[in-house]
Amino acid sequence: MALLEVEHLDVRFPLRRGEIRAVRDLSFSLQRGERLGIVGESGAGKSVLAFSLLKLLSRPGRIVAGKVRFEGRELTSLSERQFRRLRGNRLAMIFQDPLTTLNPVLTIGQQMIESLKAHRRLSTRRARIVAIDKLRQVQVSSPERRLEQYPHQLSGGLCQRVVIAIALLLEPDIIIADEPTTALDVTIQAEIITLLKRLCDEHDVGLIVISHDLGVIGQLTQRTLVMYAGRIVEQGPTREIINDAQHPYTQGLINALPQMTLPRQRLHQIPGSMPTLSEVPSGCAFHPRCAYRITPEGVPRRDCIENVPEPVRSGECQVACHWVAELIAREPAEERAT
Ligand code: SF4
Repeated sequence: MALLEVEHLDVRFPLRRGEIRAVRDLSFSLQRGERLGIVGESGAGKSVLAFSLLKLLSRPGRIVAGKVRFEGRELTSLSERQFRRLRGNRLAMIFQDPLTTLNPVLTIGQQMIESLKAHRRLSTRRARIVAIDKLRQVQVSSPERRLEQYPHQLSGGLCQRVVIAIALLLEPDIIIADEPTTALDVTIQAEIITLLKRLCDEHDVGLIVISHDLGVIGQLTQRTLVMYAGRIVEQGPTREIINDAQHPYTQGLINALPQMTLPRQRLHQIPGSMPTLSEVPSGCAFHPRCAYRITPEGVPRRDCIENVPEPVRSGECQVACHWVAELIAREPAEERAT
């Protein structure tokens, strides 16, 4: 059984001027110890997805359809109280900016010890020992001294290590990390990526990493979901997605990576921008930006404009694209001809 199963999830924000469908018919699963990446430009619905998994959606957002199962247990029907217990103990979240996650008026020790005492029956002395142990696990030097310090006395990288240590305090089964390295410089980014990988492997923790940066996803995860305008457009093993992306949007993200650009060359960019979630184009939401919506003969593909593409299997990946479906459908005929 998968550790986490999401089936046909639909999240909406009813507003006076119309409804925003932030997540549409989205399904995926996460195995114990697996590292899963969710990638897409900002506005794709990635963070809304993460917040809905943790029942942290801001009003008026709500899950209107679909199931979220954790170890087979349905979560969407749990009361706020039942969910709070689960969120504290089994599911943890790491936010983008460590300085805004940590309370600036409390020492690191106060934050860690209070969090432990709120969820476990531990004496202050015992909680302090656990906090020091977690800081050691995330390779924070002089952990006893750090417990007495305030967040502003630590560097950005050190703060993020502390945030990770706090996420590990209650030994969760799943950590959801929303842009965990975006606020950090490149060297610290690499250290945090290595640290997260090691911790997940050692503790068998499932990790969901949300990022706009396919480079980070490529280094950190084993499987990737690519999101566009609230839907998954491609999913599969990360190495397949990086080395042989099928969906035109994923190809665009890969071509936009700095490492794909030669020195003195301008960065490649996907033309246009992500639609707002209240005005998603008809058919394939990516069609206004996609070169393949026109056939090589110059004929517009009507399907692209009129029908939402269903995912099709391509190698080890699932791809939601009419053009890819056409190529796959043609494959056996071409093979027969040769
Ligand atoms: Fe492009 Fe059409 Fe594929 Fe969408 S379905 S990505 S518009 S080719």
